[in-house]
Amino acid sequence: MFDLVIIGMGPGGIAASIYAKRGNLNVLCLEKNMLGGELNYIDKIDNYPGLNNITGSSLAYKLMEHIDELNINYKIESVIDINKIDNGYEIISNKNKYLTKNIILATGRVAKKLGLENEDRLLGRGISHCAVCDGAFFKNKNVCIVGGGMSALQEALYLANIVNKIYIIYRKDKFNVTSSIVDKVINNPKIEVIYNEEVKAINGNEYLESVTLKSGKLINTSGLFIYIGYTPSVNYIKNLDILDNDGYALVNNNFETKCKGIYAVGDLVKKDTYQIVLAMADGIRASLDIINKIVEK
Ligand SMILES: Cc1cc2nc3c(=O)[nH]c(=O)nc-3n(C[C@H](O)[C@H](O)[C@H](O)COP(=O)(O)OP(=O)(O)OC[C@H]3O[C@@H](n4cnc5c(N)ncnc54)[C@H](O)[C@@H]3O)c2cc1C
Repeated sequence: MFDLVIIGMGPGGIAASIYAKRGNLNVLCLEKNMLGGELNYIDKIDNYPGLNNITGSSLAYKLMEHIDELNINYKIESVIDINKIDNGYEIISNKNKYLTKNIILATGRVAKKLGLENEDRLLGRGISHCAVCDGAFFKNKNVCIVGGGMSALQEALYLANIVNKIYIIYRKDKFNVTSSIVDKVINNPKIEVIYNEEVKAINGNEYLESVTLKSGKLINTSGLFIYIGYTPSVNYIKNLDILDNDGYALVNNNFETKCKGIYAVGDLVKKDTYQIVLAMADGIRASLDIINKIVEK
């Protein structure tokens, strides 16, 4: 039986794993996709103390090196269920079953969909949630961005270096973001902001061809980048009854949920601001709490 299984290896899970390993816990980490989580999809990170101007993928690589250096045990597996057993929990992944005394849930959030016809069919065929991953496919083409938050604006500036023209379609009459990024977006000659509008229909056969707006206006576009918010990744813990009405995990000051020994950290926990260092801090607090409880026994 493991002392601790960490599910999700973004910044929160990675920071937790470093402290757990150095605290001498018998720890296993499970990640369904890529170590680094969201970092792999961020272009530039300007606010990570001590590493200004680092790309997301470089930071993910540095964290991966740290994991390897400490010989932290991780597997690429997707967790699909968790069951309570005597003295702990059984974790079921797509490949194995594991028994553990403690769990840190660090599975972050995924981008929300518009919920329109053709959206799933044309995902990866013009529709994307990640400019860093897919932007190069749209070199010198016209694209649309839906949304007006920080992610939408950051991604618009990134895409402006690649594409011919960007239409930002935003349902409000002005951006709510308080940052110099708004001026950069508004003054960029490649970006046209269409306020008070929404995408009503997504059109295309094999690939995306156009979008129809609520007003009836048709925009011919090769790309549609959707940034309208996020939903916590919680499908595998729906039966645990530890989530609030919006699907975020409810935790105490040490990031423990009401299920003893199950912690939740990072973007899975509701915050005012979702940031790398905050996810890391949560992960560290959770690991230290587990270590302290084991030491006290
Ligand atoms: C476009 C964009 C730009 C950003 N820019 C910045 C920035 O400049 N500075 C900053 O500080 N923050 C930035 N952020 C926020 C930052 O990326 C997040 O706050 C941070 O990554 C959260 O870390 P996390 O570990 O909680 O979750 P994530 O990074 O989301 O990692 C969660 C991990 O869990 C895995 N997972 C999910 N479900 C399962 C499962 N069932 N089984 C196994 N593994 C699973 C996922 O594959 C993923 O690797 C940005 C975010 C976005 C989207």
